[in-house]
Amino acid sequence: MHMAESLSQEAPYLRDLNPPQREAVETLDGPVLVLAGAGTGKTRALTTRLAHILQSGRAFSPQILAVTFTNKAAQEMKERVSALLGGAPVEGWWLGTFHALAARMLRRHADLVGLDSNFTILDPDDQARLLKQIMEAANIDTKKWTPKAMIAMIDRWKDKGLLPTDLNSDEGGEAANGQLVGLYRLYQQRLKTLNACDFGDLLLHMITIFKNPAHADVLADYHRRFKYLLVDEYQDTNVAQYLWLRLLAQRGPEGGPSNICCVGDDDQSIYGWRGAEVGNILKFEKDFPGAAIIRLEQNYRSTGHILAAANGVIAKNEDRLGKNLFTSEEDGEKLIVRGLWDGEAEARWVGEEIEQLQHKGWNLNQIAVLVRAGFQTREFEERFIQLGIHYRVIGGPRFYERMEIRDALAYLRVIAQPSDDLALERIINVPKRGLGDATVQTLYAYGRSKGISLHESIRDLTQTDELRPKVKETLGRLMDDFARWRSLLDSMKHTDLAGQVLDESGYMAMWQSSKDVDAPGRVENLKELVAGMEEFVSMAEFLEHIALVMENRDGNEAEAATIMTLHGAKGLEFDAVFLPGWEEGLFPSQRTMDENGLSGLEEERRLAYVGITRARKRAYISFAANRRMYGNWINAIPSRFVDELPPGHVEVQSDTGLYQGRSSHWDSSGVRPPVRMATERKVINAAGEVFARGDRVSHDKFGEGTIINIDGHKLDIAFDRGGKKRVMDSFVEKC
Ligand code: ATP
Ligand code: MG
Repeated sequence: MHMAESLSQEAPYLRDLNPPQREAVETLDGPVLVLAGAGTGKTRALTTRLAHILQSGRAFSPQILAVTFTNKAAQEMKERVSALLGGAPVEGWWLGTFHALAARMLRRHADLVGLDSNFTILDPDDQARLLKQIMEAANIDTKKWTPKAMIAMIDRWKDKGLLPTDLNSDEGGEAANGQLVGLYRLYQQRLKTLNACDFGDLLLHMITIFKNPAHADVLADYHRRFKYLLVDEYQDTNVAQYLWLRLLAQRGPEGGPSNICCVGDDDQSIYGWRGAEVGNILKFEKDFPGAAIIRLEQNYRSTGHILAAANGVIAKNEDRLGKNLFTSEEDGEKLIVRGLWDGEAEARWVGEEIEQLQHKGWNLNQIAVLVRAGFQTREFEERFIQLGIHYRVIGGPRFYERMEIRDALAYLRVIAQPSDDLALERIINVPKRGLGDATVQTLYAYGRSKGISLHESIRDLTQTDELRPKVKETLGRLMDDFARWRSLLDSMKHTDLAGQVLDESGYMAMWQSSKDVDAPGRVENLKELVAGMEEFVSMAEFLEHIALVMENRDGNEAEAATIMTLHGAKGLEFDAVFLPGWEEGLFPSQRTMDENGLSGLEEERRLAYVGITRARKRAYISFAANRRMYGNWINAIPSRFVDELPPGHVEVQSDTGLYQGRSSHWDSSGVRPPVRMATERKVINAAGEVFARGDRVSHDKFGEGTIINIDGHKLDIAFDRGGKKRVMDSFVEKC
């Protein structure tokens, strides 16, 4: 036994673990799989294992590859390991998401797949724009076959580790007139010309390199380098991630045992729609013979009622391994289940409950609203702004996705990488310089015929008389500007350079002189962008960060409630969790069920399980009888998952009169009578009619509708045809 190891037997961090967790930490030779339910301390065990490997002298930090689900989780893990080791700085980590790690590797070996090491990483928007160009050149109707949808199909292939050469030409089916595989091939070629890759490529290129016998030294080098591999959330790996990992882990007979440790929970596999294969976790033993399989059964996160409710819901899934979870926590409070009139009422209720928690001294950082669909966040955001509840949206419409930010980033990208055509196209005529679509088309046509980038086409064509003199001059000036800014990259501070670029290009001035209502906000955002760059040492590092981390960093320091999707909340925990929108069609999502039937439904149910198990002390589930989805009002009924909650662990507080004229046992006369009755507001109009929420009324201009809210003599009405409108009571009559 190593000296260092015998000393570490006494390490204090080991005392905070239960026996199976210790086993997961101390089994250092050979493969280990920890398969256990939510909140059982998988991530804690993995983090401690990392600390233990370092502490026991088994490996140095650059010799450990650790994969986390988000960049945020990677940061947390670093901090926690460092704390476990008494605050020691730990250097040279290979700790991050699959994408971040693969990007770092690919930068070192880019030449082996025909890229420069400063390649651009395209975001989904750029991907779609690029494919659109290719589709247009091939005369494919981009209205019928939207580039977005086509990219989604290509991404699925990439998730499965499939390159164009791995596909038969008919595998795209009808899509893009049966030409999708061909488009995929052209798309990959274009990416190379642009010195760019998309997220899927980061892994695919590395897999290609690893598998190429001519570059066997590359993989052999990583085998020597990485003594330990650690993976969190293993149930959500897709095939490409799995292949990449397996190549790194299987060192062959001479390489010693595969010291790979994966932790996961089959009940929390929620990324099937993005190609995740829960089967990866189930075949671990086969891939890594002799693996130690460790199960954890004690949940340390949630109170008894919360855990029981989550277990009750997930038990309805047939396709699962099944496990027992227990907690030694108290039962705590029952889950609150609340039915409300509409989304606005729901947001109001959540806001009130959060304020009450605040009055009781709860910390906003420990409160989260977890939604099923992105559009749900807006209503909560608006309500929270009204109430003055600080909040942050994680993963939503994000700062870096705002138009002006994307434009500014495009300038910086072209400076960093001249052949970044998509970025150049984006800003070539922003602000307006008289370079219209026709010019861009001419440039592209020339570039395509020569197989060169937009930037190079400009360089060539500005030396001929192909273009109108005015256009030629403007393009020449623009290229000179870029050349000058580029020459300053090394000598000037990157934040100063960014400011200078925004000024000299006229981009900042364009918004400063704009009369648009949102122009001042955009100017502020641009300033914020430049200020935020301080955090990075160079332009290159900043752009890399943007490409990889699209998380909203706004207000990260202040105390704030979190609003995010259920998908994004994996692995996190909060004292109080609000789970709104539990309605059929919204959650479970109709689209998922239509596309994937029973397995889609089971994935939705796992999402419900993930949601409930994020809560430590309080969980609030709500549903609305009327929901506006994508601009239309919909009569909603409670989610089947609401019915699946074990009655002994929930307290129902639904409003009455929610489902007038429609049957639902959640209405006043149903199986589960409401515990608390909401007081109905009423109003009398000039004709002496009494109105209440839920009444059916008719309006001369808008037709028939249902009253959803009453504010003095103003009524908010969901009209059957015209959507939601606010009208005076004197203009409507009861139907
Ligand atoms: P998820 O499945 O949601 O990712 P998990 O299994 O990774 O959950 P952790 O996040 O590691 O669980 O742990 C859940 C909570 O329980 C954390 O607050 C953690 O600090 C605590 N915890 C884990 N193990 C122990 C333990 N042995 N003693 C006390 N608390 C623990
Ligand atoms: Mg975890």
